[in-house]
Amino acid sequence: KLSKRLSKVASYLPEGALFADIGSDHAYLPCYVCLHDNTAKAIAGELNVGPYNSAVDTVNQHELSKVIEVRLGNGLQILNKGEVRQLVIAGIGGPLIKTILDEGIQKLDGVERIIAQPNIDAGNVRKWFYENGFTITNEAILEESGHIYEIVVADKNAAANPFEADDLEKQLLFGPLLLKEKTEVFFYKWKTEYEKLQRVIDQMNKATIKNDKKIQQFQKELKWMKEVLM
Ligand code: SAM
Repeated sequence: KLSKRLSKVASYLPEGALFADIGSDHAYLPCYVCLHDNTAKAIAGELNVGPYNSAVDTVNQHELSKVIEVRLGNGLQILNKGEVRQLVIAGIGGPLIKTILDEGIQKLDGVERIIAQPNIDAGNVRKWFYENGFTITNEAILEESGHIYEIVVADKNAAANPFEADDLEKQLLFGPLLLKEKTEVFFYKWKTEYEKLQRVIDQMNKATIKNDKKIQQFQKELKWMKEVLM
């Protein structure tokens, strides 16, 4: 059975998906998708040999080697231009997702949808989408086994722009669509983040050498969190 987190990620793939799962580890997600949709095809990419071998094993166990190809390599380097229409990058940090997208930007021809599940710093990924012509069309926030996960879905050539005429930086931090919904999990996450950031600022104010610029940025974010939590 697939985790709640990866099931949600998978739910954003269309029927008949032709996709790559970058950093696939055991290839659970592509196997799940291809077992439930016999018109779907996938490429599972892995940087490391251990997870690559696990991915090959899972694919073989499910007799899916005709529809899932496992490739060893860094980020989008394993792809040829135009090979896939959707891209999944899940379970890694936002900054690394951004680096993978930046370094592989010339491989994104033909990619219509990117489904990202950054473990930290989703704001970085939203910013990348915003700056690179991908429109955020769906977002989710969920809790599983004590962790909170955010999923950001972005489409090429989508008409609807999710941003309000409000502070863009603020919307990138919280997620333009998550801000409109403000679910219970959303409140829980940002209450926790608020308390964490408050402690960080207190510590920074006590330090002998103060990074005023950083404190100001954090203070601004803290103010946004307060507004959002009201
Ligand atoms: N995507 C799966 C998930 O969401 O459950 C696995 C997440 S696992 C925590 C992260 C995986 O990404 C690891 O197996 C790691 O080897 C792989 N990885 C890290 N950096 C990578 C890169 N630059 N290119 C491809 N894979 C990478």
